[in-house]
Amino acid sequence: MNNLIVQKYGGTSVANAERIMNVARRVSKSAVAGNQMVVVVSAQGHTTDKLLEKARGISADANRRELDMLLVTGEQQSAALLAMALQSLGHSAISLNAAQVGIEATSVHYNAQIKNIKTERLHAELEKGNIIVVAGFQGINRFGDMTTLGRGASDTTAVALAAVLKAGLCEIYTDVDGIYTADPRIVSNAKKIDVISYDVMLELASSGAGVLHNRAVEMAKRYSVNLVLRSSLNEKPGTHIKEDSGVEQLSVSGLAIDRNVARVSVTGLPDKPGVAHSIFHPLAAEKLLVDIILLSVGDGDKRDYCFTVHKQDLKTACEILEANKSKIGYESLNTDENLAKLTIVGAGMANNSGVASSMFEALYECGVNIETISTSEIKITVLIDERHITKAAKAVHDKFEPMMSVDFEETEES
Ligand code: ADP
Ligand code: ASP
Ligand code: MG
Repeated sequence: MNNLIVQKYGGTSVANAERIMNVARRVSKSAVAGNQMVVVVSAQGHTTDKLLEKARGISADANRRELDMLLVTGEQQSAALLAMALQSLGHSAISLNAAQVGIEATSVHYNAQIKNIKTERLHAELEKGNIIVVAGFQGINRFGDMTTLGRGASDTTAVALAAVLKAGLCEIYTDVDGIYTADPRIVSNAKKIDVISYDVMLELASSGAGVLHNRAVEMAKRYSVNLVLRSSLNEKPGTHIKEDSGVEQLSVSGLAIDRNVARVSVTGLPDKPGVAHSIFHPLAAEKLLVDIILLSVGDGDKRDYCFTVHKQDLKTACEILEANKSKIGYESLNTDENLAKLTIVGAGMANNSGVASSMFEALYECGVNIETISTSEIKITVLIDERHITKAAKAVHDKFEPMMSVDFEETEES
């Protein structure tokens, strides 16, 4: 196995000087054991949120290029501080930002995607015996400008580096002991999962389980990255994310909550070919992400459409639809921001007919009304009133808890 390890430390893990020294000692231990080390860091604590707040203090609608210029400073601070901490322990270490590494990304600001990572500088620094500390969450676009890769995307920086460097291991260090059957801060009796497949993790991450960035999981799957998520504050083994976890037979592996949803309803549309295209084409042209789409039978020969978007995109979605009103031909446009999404995920769900009805039963038993349902082969999502999300998550988790584990021992070769 390649002795190059990529480690990533999240915001809480580098929140203050003491935590940074703790990270430096962990990195040092792996380096002393004979591994080449590339370490990715997030901004300290709530730095990214605070920088966003500062920007809002200047302008409610800040220019996205400038927003990115501001946000990338958070990760750069952590990277420099960790390099200093490693040096104080006697290591040769260097911090690099995305421009210095050559992390090339798409031009979209605030939600760019990594296209390519140059490895020359990385190899050169490793050859010199340096521990490399990379600022996560950032890239440079084809104009040479800094971009950011979406909230939580330092995970993606780490996995992408592990993929291009063909690292033997990519460890994501965070403030929980691993991936749980639900967010342990919301569902206190959630259970830690020892091994999870890329596919199930991808669905959980895409459905709102913020513990891992969804594009990190996608990339780990594509490049078969040996990925582990664990705590930076203890020595517990964490969760291994890999191709086939052996728990594929589980009907429900876990649940995810997403509060960042808003629903748009477009009503009174004609029932004829091309209507859906007229709604969603202009939204797609503006690169707006649309999630659940429902078409329902309205009054007489009229049809109603509703779909969900991220809350921060709601205003833009409405502006686009209003600008295209006459072309689309709808009667009214309504929005709802007080919703949350609850999703259960399980690869064995497709072969088990009772899963959906058990989920609905749990929601019925705790008196929660379902606004919208959407299903796929391995997940079931409901939209509910945001105020009930904790109660609903607990009830649904309790319902499936007995089914959410198997006797599975991770074998040596796995
Ligand atoms: P970091 O700053 O280290 O990237 P994040 O806050 O992004 O940390 O992710 C860790 C958090 O993810 C945990 O504190 C936990 O509240 C949340 N979380 C959500 N879903 C899960 C889950 N299924 N398992 C574990 N943690 C989860
Ligand atoms: N600091 C960035 C964020 O808060 C990236 C990250 O932490 O992964 O979203
Ligand atoms: Mg994170």
